[in-house]
Amino acid sequence: LKLVTFIHNGRVQLGAIQTENEIVPLSTIADDMMALITLGTSGLAQAEELLQDAAEGIPVTDVRLLAPIPQPRRNIICLGKNYAAHAAESNRAWGDKVELPEAPVVFTKATTAVNGPFDDIPYDAAVSSMIDFEAELAFVIGREARHVTPADALNYVFGYTVLNDLTARDLQREHKQFFLGKSLDGHAPFGPWIVTRDEIADPQNLRITCAVNNILKQDGHTGDMIFSIAETLARLSRSMTLLPGDIVATGTPSGVGFARTPPEFLAPGDVVTCTVEHIGTIRNRIANS
Ligand code: MG
Repeated sequence: LKLVTFIHNGRVQLGAIQTENEIVPLSTIADDMMALITLGTSGLAQAEELLQDAAEGIPVTDVRLLAPIPQPRRNIICLGKNYAAHAAESNRAWGDKVELPEAPVVFTKATTAVNGPFDDIPYDAAVSSMIDFEAELAFVIGREARHVTPADALNYVFGYTVLNDLTARDLQREHKQFFLGKSLDGHAPFGPWIVTRDEIADPQNLRITCAVNNILKQDGHTGDMIFSIAETLARLSRSMTLLPGDIVATGTPSGVGFARTPPEFLAPGDVVTCTVEHIGTIRNRIANS
């Protein structure tokens, strides 16, 4: 299933993509994505059934897609430096020693950073003039996970989505902790949907790309993650209980702007496109706020 949150005629609804171009509302099953996740496998079974019986959906062109979980109940959990080539380029750009993390580097993005898959990214040069892109595969937790083993970990995944971990490099550097530079309003667009786990045979076998104004900047592969999704979920769950609806972004491959020669940053008018194979594409324009 490809599950969406959308606005149609002023009403926010949960839906599933029926064909490329149509959405079937799931409002008879659940009010929103969190409620559907809470229903577990029975909710998904009901959605499958409804999708099969539905005659005609709402054309995607008639709606505005929101982030699949527009208001997560807590921060988005993120991994830093989870691709070796990106860890190396970051260390070089910061002038740090080039070394790979021995344990996952974990930080979070504020819930107020969440943005729609095709909405504008607010830009304020007075706050930051070093806005950078990071295309990432994110996974969504399906049920409470505590002390999970790597072998069992993927059973706790509800589904997958595409997230742009936009970063204010100047703030990230200035404040030492990543949090502020990662949490500008609207700087965590994700979607366009959550693809349920059953549809992705191997989440470590997906191409991941980012283009700015249609010029390819990042071209990576989830097989190159240092800590796999299973390993990440297991290690997180060893320290904290993961809750249904938690979103975990798994790090970005190499090619980000600040590590390029010369460095490149996003400016108003730029359009950033992030794609993960078999999952989807999000596309956002940088706009003065
Ligand atoms: Mg990142």
